[in-house]
Amino acid sequence: MIQKTLVLLKPDAVERALVGRIIERFENAGLKIIGIKMVWVDKEFSKKHYAAHVSKAFYNPLETFIVSGPVIAFVLEGIEAVELVRKIVGPTEPKSAAPGTIRGDFAHHSYKYADSKGIAIKNLIHASGTVEEAEQEVRLWFTSEEMHSYETVHEKHTK
Ligand code: ATP
Ligand code: MG
Repeated sequence: MIQKTLVLLKPDAVERALVGRIIERFENAGLKIIGIKMVWVDKEFSKKHYAAHVSKAFYNPLETFIVSGPVIAFVLEGIEAVELVRKIVGPTEPKSAAPGTIRGDFAHHSYKYADSKGIAIKNLIHASGTVEEAEQEVRLWFTSEEMHSYETVHEKHTK
């Protein structure tokens, strides 16, 4: 039941200096950061990360967006972490994301606007969608040496 999940703060979150405020939300929920780094991905790596989307109409704008600046990549660990992180992040479209979610609180981009401009939806953050996706993505982004094992106060209190 303890899961690892991959989170990326996309170039818009880094450029808008939202890194601290976003990471704080996961720490507040008791999730544990077990690995973290800044990476400027290239087009080749984007195709690996977004392999499921490469043939979709929005892939080219998505690739342009994700390679446009550095991202902060981290692995969170916790109880049923994959679903919990997606709940904290909110749905893909910031316009539809409820207040209280990261995408709802810090962005307002819509599908309609993004499609009219031929750009990716600027939604600040990526989070693994399923347990299988999380396992693949953690393996793609982090080596075992880049992840660490330690005990947080939250773990002591959830035993
Ligand atoms: P992520 O995988 O980044 O966490 P998600 O799982 O909510 O987001 P996906 O369907 O996996 O959404 O799409 C990946 C990303 O592609 C989205 O986060 C968004 O930036 C972009 N995107 C998805 N659909 C569209 C669209 N119709 N128009 C523009 N951009 C889109
Ligand atoms: Mg996704």
